[in-house]
Amino acid sequence: MLVIKDLATAFFNMGTFNITLTGGEPLLRDDIFEIIEEFRNKGLRVKLYSNASLLDRDKCIRLKELGISQFSTTIFSLNPQINDCITCKNDSLNFILPNIALLEELCVPVQIKMPILKMNYESYEELKTFCGAHNYSFFPSPNISPKTDGDSSPLKFELAEREFAKMIRKIDAEHTKNVTGDQNAFRKEDIICHSLNNSVFINSIGDVFPCISWPVKLGNIFEKSIAEIWNTSDVLQYLRSLKKSHMKFCGKCEYSTHCTVCPGDSMMDGDMLGCSHLQKKCAKAIMGLI
Ligand code: SF4
Repeated sequence: MLVIKDLATAFFNMGTFNITLTGGEPLLRDDIFEIIEEFRNKGLRVKLYSNASLLDRDKCIRLKELGISQFSTTIFSLNPQINDCITCKNDSLNFILPNIALLEELCVPVQIKMPILKMNYESYEELKTFCGAHNYSFFPSPNISPKTDGDSSPLKFELAEREFAKMIRKIDAEHTKNVTGDQNAFRKEDIICHSLNNSVFINSIGDVFPCISWPVKLGNIFEKSIAEIWNTSDVLQYLRSLKKSHMKFCGKCEYSTHCTVCPGDSMMDGDMLGCSHLQKKCAKAIMGLI
């Protein structure tokens, strides 16, 4: 716990706002509430990613008392057969829905993430309506990436191009419905990735990475302080300096006005400065070209 205490102090001193705790399953840790408490004692907002199956009333009350800013979990479909089929667990919704209802009763903010695959594509509207009715934040995404070790097996569940495009347009319209002016203004900025400038990912053994899907190690918190890694990592300085104009093909690309260029996604395709097939597909979908 001393490590977490030191980390919480370091983050506080660095002016950090948000901590996201994820796993595996963070609620498997006996000390998860003490960990949250250390960050909350420093006034940091804490978001918890969990499958919700280990919650009970006492744990929900504890999360409420600790004042977490969001409890985030995943539902693939409200159709039990579909959710069971994807999670490979019988009766899977019964491990989630009663528990998030407890959180709702206690006014703990809940987010539902929905990875959209071939098998649950048609569950989107029902889940969106359900989230709206319960005031849960809804975060759907049809973007499926290879695993960080390069294993591309998840891609077999990816939507076909037409369904993918329809879904991207729906989600983009939802995200930008309250935006006035140019809805693609942020995609036209020269800055590539705001996350690289305001967040890092630390894994369970203390290795630090630019983001959760970018396997370039910046250092380890048991060897250097997080502040030193944040302020002096050459890799991080370089990544933060990247602009769209540094990317090999984006400058002359016809899709660049609608593309959320992501060097992490490009790296998944083999070249950090190259084109990401995923971001290209999203841009074409938003432009109505597929
Ligand atoms: S589609 Fe590819 S080349 Fe074009 S802007 Fe996006 S990432 Fe760059």
